[in-house]
Amino acid sequence: MIDRVSAIAEHGGGHLDADTAMGPASFDAARLAAGAVLSAVEQLAAGTESSGPARGDSEAYCLVRPPGHHATPSTSMGFCLFNSVAVAAALLAADGQRVAIVDVDAHHGNGTQDVFWDRDDVLYASIHQYPLYPGTGALGERGAGAGEGCTVNVPLPPGATGNTARAALDEVIVPAVERFAPDWMLISAGYDGHRADPLTGLGYSASDYGDFVRRLMALAPRTVAVLEGGYDLDATRASSYAVAGALLGLDLHPEPASGAGPGMEVVEAAARLSALDGNR
Ligand code: ZN
Repeated sequence: MIDRVSAIAEHGGGHLDADTAMGPASFDAARLAAGAVLSAVEQLAAGTESSGPARGDSEAYCLVRPPGHHATPSTSMGFCLFNSVAVAAALLAADGQRVAIVDVDAHHGNGTQDVFWDRDDVLYASIHQYPLYPGTGALGERGAGAGEGCTVNVPLPPGATGNTARAALDEVIVPAVERFAPDWMLISAGYDGHRADPLTGLGYSASDYGDFVRRLMALAPRTVAVLEGGYDLDATRASSYAVAGALLGLDLHPEPASGAGPGMEVVEAAARLSALDGNR
């Protein structure tokens, strides 16, 4: 997979698939993206060993492109060359750390789900629009074998807003992550769920993303947020501002939180499924 991306870059760029264009510098950019997440993990691990967890020493934000969450162990796809979050999670897990990955990009992170599908040391939870590219992420996709219940999907209908996503976090994902008790929280922070985004139909606001991250960073001693999608530049900038603020402990609201929308029945169904895990 690395050789294939490298070869296309050497030839000046091209297409990995119909969606996934590469320029001559894309291979370097993708390696730097994955390396940035590894570097964040290394620095947080070193910092907390020497000085103990403290606000600002236990959070990192990786502003990287290309995104990664569609890249599977064997295939680059959906604008994603290498799965930066999965690479860091795999490294941490190999070191005996428990890792929760929560993906708030509007698309389902099929690649990340694939990597950890049958494992119980990495939890993958996603809130996304459904159906939508890449077509995965149904409610019933919950992992297999030892990993059953360590994959959590909340597939929201088009038009779903921040209140629905907050309910999905509060009623489904936060309880699942609390039961899992991770050492690390990795957030796939894609901003294409913003209502201004041209590629999807979700209705989040920039402030909603800050709320999501505030909820998630409370669940583990260390948090690394990593940029994924987001295709309206103003919305991506404002969402990134809210998330950077949340990671720094600041309550920044570049625009009002979004209110009611469809999809609560999905949240309730996911909560019922998740409660079964809690009772096992
Ligand atoms: Zn996306």
